Amino acid sequence: IQIIGAPIFNEKKMLKGAVLVFYDITELKKLELTRKDFVANVSHELKTPITSIKGFAETLLDNKENNPEVVEKFHQIIYDESDRLQILIQDLLTLSKLEKDEFELQVTDFHIGKVIEEVIAVIHQQAEQKGLNLTVDVEKDIKVKADREQMKQVLFNLLANAVSYTPGKGEITLMIEKTDSNMHIAVSDSGIGIGEEAIPRLFERFYRVDKARSRNTGGTGLGLAIVKHIVEVHEGKIKVDSELDKGSTFHVYIPTNLG
Ligand code: ADP
Repeated sequence: IQIIGAPIFNEKKMLKGAVLVFYDITELKKLELTRKDFVANVSHELKTPITSIKGFAETLLDNKENNPEVVEKFHQIIYDESDRLQILIQDLLTLSKLEKDEFELQVTDFHIGKVIEEVIAVIHQQAEQKGLNLTVDVEKDIKVKADREQMKQVLFNLLANAVSYTPGKGEITLMIEKTDSNMHIAVSDSGIGIGEEAIPRLFERFYRVDKARSRNTGGTGLGLAIVKHIVEVHEGKIKVDSELDKGSTFHVYIPTNLG
């Protein structure tokens, strides 16, 4: 608590009393800490790929490596790490756009089936390479009212996670149903699952259950934070059911009466 005081004088300039104002700054302090944590996290996340890019580029420039296979490997690392930086910056821009006070949803009526096709076109290759079976259980011609681009991002992030965190030959299912009050999206996988203790932190920016695994799969640690933001600006809800080594289901509910 912060206290600010000021004396009150009467007409004869004699002390009459004082005003004390008590400010509860816990929330402000918390915000300030979250902001500082965020800056520290971003800096760290940027530093790792840049250090690697610079190191390998220096070795190539100094001509220290002349084995063509090794040179190619170094070029590939530089490319992959730049790719990671680009995705990270894209995710940061997406988050910052969603957090702006003036952010406005572009709500339209659209066929969700078309959006699913677009998302699957991007991720099916990775799923196939891992031998994952992807099932889409969505009523034909379902029309929804929401922000199309944002819903595409939600589906993409949840499905991309399902692919990343499910070992080969697993099952992934996307289910969408419409009730009177909600559109319900469920993305299920038969993957590694999430421990109970990790679930409350899952939607925090940069939180990863297993840092090394997330990095290997190219994760930025921002995907679920973005999903949660999008769901919240739609006044919806998100929840997770998961069991370690069995799999996870992410449920999203978006109200159907959006303005
Ligand atoms: P990342 O880029 O690391 O995947 P996310 O914000 O999308 O970041 O997810 C945060 C963390 O939640 C992941 O690092 C992973 O540990 C866990 N996670 C997300 N989705 C799943 C899933 N389907 N199965 C198991 N763990 C998951």
